[in-house]
Amino acid sequence: MQRPDKRKASQIRPLKFQWDIAPNALASILLSCGNTQVICAVSVEESVPRWMKAQNVTGGWTTAEYSMLPYSTPDRKTRDIAKGKIDGRSQEIQRLIGRSLRAVIDLEKLGERTLWIDCDVLQADGGTRTTSITGAYLALKLAVERLTSKGLLKQNPLTTSIGAISVGIYQGQVIADLCYLEDKDASVDMNVVMTGKGKFVEVQASGEEATYSPKELQAMLKCATGALKKVAQFQTQAWAKRPKK
Ligand code: UDP
Repeated sequence: MQRPDKRKASQIRPLKFQWDIAPNALASILLSCGNTQVICAVSVEESVPRWMKAQNVTGGWTTAEYSMLPYSTPDRKTRDIAKGKIDGRSQEIQRLIGRSLRAVIDLEKLGERTLWIDCDVLQADGGTRTTSITGAYLALKLAVERLTSKGLLKQNPLTTSIGAISVGIYQGQVIADLCYLEDKDASVDMNVVMTGKGKFVEVQASGEEATYSPKELQAMLKCATGALKKVAQFQTQAWAKRPKK
């Protein structure tokens, strides 16, 4: 088995970052995972969705929106707005991002406010949803630090970190962090979201005109767990280089 970019089966692509790419956001980061690049930005709104009030739910809310910019793919991708409705895939991905972040945030400690996490794909080459989650966590952590320094948060609402990676079966072998060329030929594609405490938030494994055995599932989970340790190490390094204002 030869990977298009000659990586070893378990090797993830290099992760690179640029903080505060969107200066008007409370916090933002441009995260690159190989050729996949995603802008993750957090904005704050000093209110909560109406349904929370109606259901007497106290605390705050955190939600995400995801989209692929028209020029993120080799063939221009029509904006959802031009079609008048959000793409099913984007909706599924943004719900996954929101759920993942809510797994590590104590909404009660957030106070009566909403954190909006916008993930916009600048360049797509596989793994855009996983890169979005890994980057969104970093932007969220910086947003929380800034809200705390402004005196708006009294307690840290983040309970642990969160990151995500894709794994799959390609040419009969388990590989980590699939690029587009691998993703399109993979028989099984799996996205794994895990907290810094080693707990899963979501495991999505799908066979594409194929099936997988319990043994293969275990092998994919093992590969993902190893890859996620690297993702967590990267997050620690990126966090150490965050802007200090
Ligand atoms: N892709 C694309 N156009 C689309 C959807 C996907 O070019 O409308 C490509 C893109 O490179 C993406 C990859 O297919 O990263 C894999 O897409 P998938 O739906 O598996 O999500 P992802 O791996 O990006 O989370």
